[in-house]
Amino acid sequence: MTTSNDAPLRLDSLAVHAGREDFEALGVHATPIDLSSTYPLPSIDIGGDAYERGATGGDLHDTTAVYQRLWNPTVARFEQAFAALEGAEQAVAFASGMATTTAVLTAAKQRRGSHVVALRPLYGGTDHLLATGLLGTETTFVDAVEQVAAAVRPDTGLVIAETPANPTLELVDLAALVAAAGEAPVLVDNTFATPVLQRPLEHGVALSLHSATKYIGGHGDVMGGVVACDEAWAQAIRPIRAITGAIAHPFSAYLMHRGLQTLPLRVRAQQANAQQVAEALAAMAGVDRVHYPGLEGSDPGGLVGEGRQMAGPGSMLAIDLGTHARAAAVAEGVRLFTHAVSLGSVDSLIQQPASLTHRPVAPEARPGAGVLRLSIGLEHPADLVADLEQAIASAG
Ligand SMILES: *Cc1c(COP(=O)(O)O)cnc(C)c1O
Repeated sequence: MTTSNDAPLRLDSLAVHAGREDFEALGVHATPIDLSSTYPLPSIDIGGDAYERGATGGDLHDTTAVYQRLWNPTVARFEQAFAALEGAEQAVAFASGMATTTAVLTAAKQRRGSHVVALRPLYGGTDHLLATGLLGTETTFVDAVEQVAAAVRPDTGLVIAETPANPTLELVDLAALVAAAGEAPVLVDNTFATPVLQRPLEHGVALSLHSATKYIGGHGDVMGGVVACDEAWAQAIRPIRAITGAIAHPFSAYLMHRGLQTLPLRVRAQQANAQQVAEALAAMAGVDRVHYPGLEGSDPGGLVGEGRQMAGPGSMLAIDLGTHARAAAVAEGVRLFTHAVSLGSVDSLIQQPASLTHRPVAPEARPGAGVLRLSIGLEHPADLVADLEQAIASAG
C-alpha cells in the first residue's frame, strides 16, 4: 500500500488499512467474515483446477475457494495485512502458534532436511515439540549464538531462536545468528516483540513466526498463529496446512485482523507501563532480580537501546523471588494481575514458568522455581506496582 504521492505507508497506517483495500468497492466498512465450509463450484473443471491449486499452495482469490481447509478469504485478508507489517512477501495463518511451528518444521524437513538447531531458551511448547522428535526431526540444542555454526550440518533444515526469549527476556543478535547459520534458514519466534518492535526478515531471517494468541489478538479471546516468509516458503507451508487441517478459523482471522489495527498503539502503551513497573520492581525490597531489556545492563549489545534490532524493550518481564514458596505466594496473592498463562493481552497476567509454560522443558534448561513471568497490560502502572508491592510484602 502507498500514500497518494506513492510513498510507502508507515507501519501505523498499514496496521489500520492493510487487507482492507477493496472495502470501498465492496461497499463495506468492517471486514466481512466468510464462514462457508464449502463453496459452489462453477463447473467440475474449474473446481478441479482450483482444488489442485489450493492443495499445492496456490492462492484461490480469483476462483472458487472449493473448501475452507484449502483457502478462505477472511484468513487471506489477515495474511495480506500481516505480511505488510512484517515487510514479507507472504504470511500463512494457522489455528494456533504450535500448529504454525508444526507446519514450518514439516516444510523445512521436506525442503532441506530433518535436523534442527534450536537456541535455548525457547517457549516450552516449542522446546517440547523439538525434544520429543514427534515430527521426525532431530534437534541439537545450543545455549549461545556462538555454538550455532558448529551445530549446523548439511541436513540442517532450520535454525530456531526466540528473541526476546521466553521467559527471561534474553536477546539474540539476529544478524549474528543468521551469519552463524550460514546456508541453513533461520526461524525467529517474534511473538514477544511483534512487528511493531522487530521485523526479523530485515535482518536476514527467513521465517518470522508468531503465536497470534498473544499481542496480535491482544484481548485474550482468540487462538491463532502466523508465519511471515517469502513466496517459496509460503508455497511449501500452505499445502501442509491444507493436508493437516491447521488453517485458522475465519472468525479467528477476523479477530486477528482487527487486532492489527490497534497493535502499534497497544504495544507502545503496554511497553511504557512495563518500563515503569520494571523500574519499580528493580527498586523493591524482596525482589532478587528483574529481567527486562529496558533496564540498564540488560542489553549489552545495544539491540534495543541503540535501535540496532528492536524499536523498544516490549512489555514482558520476569522477576526472580528466589524460592518456589515466595513465587507461589506472589502469583496467588496478586489481585489486579490475573494468575494465568498466556500473555500480550490488554490485562496484566502473571505465572510461574517452571510449573506451567516451561514444565515440559528438560530440567537443566528450565527456569528456576522462584521466577515469575509478567505480561504487562494497559492498567495504570501505579495500580500494577501497588498490586505487586502488596503481594511481595505479604510473601515475606
Ligand atoms: C504461546 C506461545 C507459543 C505457542 O502459541 P499457541 O498459540 O499457544 O499455540 C509460541 N511461542 C511463544 C513465544 C508463545 O508465547
